[in-house]
Amino acid sequence: MNAAVLSYSLTQPVSRFLGSPKELLIDGEWVPAASGKTFPVYDPATGRVSAEVAEGDREDIGRAVKAARRAFESGPWPALRPAERGKIIWRIGDAILEHLDELAELESLDNGKPVSVAKAADVPLAADMFHYMAGWATKRHGITIPLSILYTPGVRYHAYTVPEPVGVVGQIIPWNFPLLMAAWKLAPALAMGCTVVLKVAEETPLSALRLGELLIEIGLPKGVVNIVTGFGETAGAALAAHPGVDKVAFTGSTEVGRLIVRAAANDLKKVSLELGGKSPNIILKDADLDVAIPGAASAIFFNHGQCCCAGSRLYAEEPVFDRVVEGVAEAAKKIKLGPGLDPKTEMGPMVSEIQRNRVCGYLESGLAEGARAVTGGSARAGAGYFVEPTVLVDTQAGMKVVQEEIFGPVVTAMPFEALDDRLIERANDTIYGLAAGVWTRDLSKAHTLAARLKSGTVWVNCYNVFDAALPFGGYKQSGWGREMGEAVLEHYTETKAVTIRL
Ligand code: ADP
Repeated sequence: MNAAVLSYSLTQPVSRFLGSPKELLIDGEWVPAASGKTFPVYDPATGRVSAEVAEGDREDIGRAVKAARRAFESGPWPALRPAERGKIIWRIGDAILEHLDELAELESLDNGKPVSVAKAADVPLAADMFHYMAGWATKRHGITIPLSILYTPGVRYHAYTVPEPVGVVGQIIPWNFPLLMAAWKLAPALAMGCTVVLKVAEETPLSALRLGELLIEIGLPKGVVNIVTGFGETAGAALAAHPGVDKVAFTGSTEVGRLIVRAAANDLKKVSLELGGKSPNIILKDADLDVAIPGAASAIFFNHGQCCCAGSRLYAEEPVFDRVVEGVAEAAKKIKLGPGLDPKTEMGPMVSEIQRNRVCGYLESGLAEGARAVTGGSARAGAGYFVEPTVLVDTQAGMKVVQEEIFGPVVTAMPFEALDDRLIERANDTIYGLAAGVWTRDLSKAHTLAARLKSGTVWVNCYNVFDAALPFGGYKQSGWGREMGEAVLEHYTETKAVTIRL
């Protein structure tokens, strides 16, 4: 770590945190990787190293799974009274809020996002998740079921179900909302009494490591949450394939989702996946454009477009198409690019050089295929991994920029004639099905689209509205199962049916 090379000053808690070794959390202790190896993490605003982090691999995953297994089979956590478990989970939410500024600063340093966004969204939403899930620890229960079966006349049965924790859970998370993704994964697993090995993204391990320190301070029993930093192909793959893991929960690309399914197939461990998207955002001519235009801009540009649910395919009805494109392009031009830690910044850099190059590859491909950039269209020269917010027009359904997830601040804007089958076909013409947006004043049209769009979330006259109580997840290749809400608890419980002959 070399804090001296950073171009903006970090607050004291963050400097202190960066100044200590970044190790793996295994069985309640911070330990170096078994190999002794470390890897650098970069500040995407400057390309400079901000920390050296332990490079966990197969062996470390093995140690972490062993600790999680021990904590599950013989530790206090699964057997704790639900109200006690709930209180501890609630305290995690409180601790996150108590360290809001510090966690937001770390998130910004690591991921590149504006610190103001991390303060307003990532960190409080992460706390919400723990607070919300704390309540489920006492509220998840089974049912009694009247049986009709008649094996032996006169014999009666009493049958009931018991939700039991699924066991040791391997959780693999991405870099776009590092702390929030850790919260989405950890909170429901903990509420159901599971123990966890969390593999954080190699690009953004810092906030989860700080959360690990807070978990120790709070007194979470050892081995309940183990955190391994390292690469996907080594640590991640080892976790997905480990025979000691009962269930894998993954958020990331559809491509890696397929690898996770294959790795988990050997022993048929349970799998849930929250994957990519190419979400349609549809503006009808009757929409309130004063709301819809900024809404469409924020749908794609929030978090630099690095959102699985980004509104990346914008469809506007012909009479309002030009005004919508002009408005979204104006909004894009006004966005102030800069380092996330600068309070004036509205959009930071892409998370990494690889991601910047990936997005630029898509821009080049789109422009070569005949698309036109109304604004943006390239990376910003100089240090850091910045890409200009971009609005592409003249795009056709078959183009890569319309079909594939770019995961950057690039929207393709396309006109449509009317709300008809053709529009719905176009909107659903994707391998993904994560989210969709609809902007209209017509209730009937809103409901028609909400019913016919094949996606796990439909936002009407709003976008990117998340709540810990709302299930989130995808149709088609956007995933298996749902995150958040009551729905996510399914992933972390086994249902036992008990039948008693009376
Ligand atoms: P992105 O493409 O957005 O970087 P990825 O899907 O590659 O997202 O990464 C999300 C998470 O999956 C990260 O924690 C990464 O380390 C992990 N990962 C990448 N490859 C694999 C793999 N083969 N097996 C398991 N995890 C992986």
